[in-house]
Amino acid sequence: MQAEHTDVVLFFEDHEISKEMLMAEFEAVLDHVVSVPEFADQSVEAAFVRVNENLQPIAIVFFKIDFGREGAADPKWNVPLEHMASNSGAGPDLGAGRIRLACYSQCPVAWHQKQLWDPAMSPGHNTFMQVRLALQKNRLGLKYVPVPLAPEGTSANPQALPSLGMDQAVSVPQGIGANSATPANELAAERQRIAEHIKSQRLHIATLKNKRNEDIAKLKSEFQKQLRHHQQTAQQLERQCQEQTERADRFKALLQEQVRNIKQERERAAAQLSEVSAARTHDVSEQFTILQQKFDLELQAKVDAETAELKEMLEMRNVELFYREEQMTALRDEIANLRQEKVRLLNQGANSYLEQLSDAGVDFVAHHPGAGHLSIAAADVGEYLDSPQRFAAKKCYVDAELYAVWLEHYNDPVCQASVDVSGDGDSFPCGRSLERVEIPNQYVANFSNRCPEHQNQAAFVDAQASNDDQQSQLSQQQAIPMQRGA
Ligand SMILES: [Zn+2]
Repeated sequence: MQAEHTDVVLFFEDHEISKEMLMAEFEAVLDHVVSVPEFADQSVEAAFVRVNENLQPIAIVFFKIDFGREGAADPKWNVPLEHMASNSGAGPDLGAGRIRLACYSQCPVAWHQKQLWDPAMSPGHNTFMQVRLALQKNRLGLKYVPVPLAPEGTSANPQALPSLGMDQAVSVPQGIGANSATPANELAAERQRIAEHIKSQRLHIATLKNKRNEDIAKLKSEFQKQLRHHQQTAQQLERQCQEQTERADRFKALLQEQVRNIKQERERAAAQLSEVSAARTHDVSEQFTILQQKFDLELQAKVDAETAELKEMLEMRNVELFYREEQMTALRDEIANLRQEKVRLLNQGANSYLEQLSDAGVDFVAHHPGAGHLSIAAADVGEYLDSPQRFAAKKCYVDAELYAVWLEHYNDPVCQASVDVSGDGDSFPCGRSLERVEIPNQYVANFSNRCPEHQNQAAFVDAQASNDDQQSQLSQQQAIPMQRGA
């Protein structure tokens, strides 16, 4: 039909034509001379369109092609576009008569079917119209030769949208109105048009069927996936449920056992409690008594042991004391014997000599405080030598002890009363100077060696002491020497 034609390739993105190129450029893409970065990593839908000089499509192949990472075409892609464009079946009339069409639903080479796609043919969205409009815009700058009116019986006028759906329905009356010359021709044309319409509708139906089958397959696959997922979930839930049930059973059994144990424990405790409360009062008092007895016994044993030890020690002391007393008595006797012996010896040995001196008029005189000058008989020299102080005391008519006390007073006449000045138990002699008692038998023990203040205390003490008979007798005996001395 058409002598010259041009091959172009249109690319679709989101069901709109996004890129156009000449076949030569597409071959450069296939040969990896040129890459298409905007299609990187995509599977793109494209259309191979054979165009006549009037910029009308005469053949279309709807194919798919994959692009790699850098926008390079898939090297394994091998759809024979030109072969398909020349050998496929009829499609709709897009102005230059019925085109040759290769798509998923109408594929001349069965093993390439999966690499083709079906154009949309619905009234709102028509891929054929998109192709036709793109060609009329002629962005690729194809050579355009305007044609005279289309030959009769071939095609509708170019303004009409010839192929499909409602557009076709609208174009039919126009056709009738325009060409009403001969009824026979008109009828033939009408029949022809209806036949074409039926064919295109069949194609449409076929694409819809394929689309539906594809959708059904997708849905089935999705459904299978979901079914598997739900089955797995159901199995999992069932398993969990079983586990929970088993666990609940175990817990139930455990709980029952515990309840049983607690009940037994409680009964046992109650029984024990009643026994214990009965026995406790008795037990406690008995235990207390036993402990007390034990304690008493232990204490008694300890006390006995200590007492025995102390008794033993006391007896030993007593024995020691007894022996010491005996020793002292023996020593005292010995002293007395020795003294007598000494006097006897003095008398025997010295008396003859002393008597000779006495006879020759020699007097033995000694001076003692309180007694003055004492004349000592020759016979008494031994006694004097034995204890001069006792001899002096005898001459003063006082006993040796009193004479010794008086002598102390005589040498240092101060108050000997103990005075506790600070009140803390440390006492010191009063130390006040006194008038000296010159004569021993005028000296009163614990009175003459006190100052007037402390003499009152002493008098009080003496008055108390005078209640005792023995004490009064002693004071009488003491009074006698005093009278003698006076
Ligand atoms: Zn005093």
